[in-house]
Amino acid sequence: MTGRPRRTIVVATRNEHKLAELGEILAGVDLVPLPAEVELPPEDGNTFAANALGKARAAREQTGLAAIADDSGIAAAGLGGRPGVRSARYAGEDATDEENLALLLEEVAATADRSVAYVCAIAFVAEDGAETVREGRCEGTLAEQPRGTGGFGYDPAFVPSDLNDGRTMAELSAAEKHAISHRGRAARAIAPIVAVAE
Ligand code: IMP
Repeated sequence: MTGRPRRTIVVATRNEHKLAELGEILAGVDLVPLPAEVELPPEDGNTFAANALGKARAAREQTGLAAIADDSGIAAAGLGGRPGVRSARYAGEDATDEENLALLLEEVAATADRSVAYVCAIAFVAEDGAETVREGRCEGTLAEQPRGTGGFGYDPAFVPSDLNDGRTMAELSAAEKHAISHRGRAARAIAPIVAVAE
C-alpha cells in the first residue's frame, strides 16, 4: 500500500446493518457511526439519489467530516415499482421488516409478475462539499415463502438472478451478498472517489 492517510467518513444512517455492510465493502477508509446529535432530514424525496444526498449533506454540514449515505429499497414490477423509496415504511411508519415483507408477499401474490429489483443510491459529500452519487441494482424474483436468517429487510424472500441456485439473499454469506447486491455494486462504483483524500 502507499502510505496515504486514511480518510475518516461519517456514515449518515441509524441502520446498523447498513453501517456494517458499507464497512465490509469499502476498504481503506475509516467509517464512523453518526453522532447521536446529528439530525437527518426526512426521507421524503421521490428518488433514492435525492434521499441519499439529503442525508449525506446533513451529516457533513453538522460534523465537518466527509459523509456517505445510502438510500435503498425494493421495486416490484407487478406493482409498478412499489414500494420503491417507501420500502422501509411500506406497511406503516413504524412497520417492522417482517410486516413490510408480509405485505409485499401478499400484494405480489395477487399479480402475475414476481420480478423484483433491489436499488441503492450512495451519496458521498467530501469535506469541501463536492457531491457524488452512484447507483447499483440487483435483479431477482420474490420467493413465495421467506427462507434464511442472514441479511435484513426483504432478504428472506429475494432470490437474486445472478445466482442460479434458488437461494434467497438471507441464505448467502455476507461476501456472497456484497458481490451481487445493489449496495455492493453502488459502493464499488463510488469507492475510487471515497478512498482518495484531497
Ligand atoms: P432506507 O434506505 O433506510 O430508506 O431503507 C430501505 C429499506 O429497503 C430497508 O428498510 C429494507 O426494508 C429495504 N432494503 C434495502 N436494502 C436492503 C437489503 O440489502 N436487503 C433487504 N432489504 C433491503
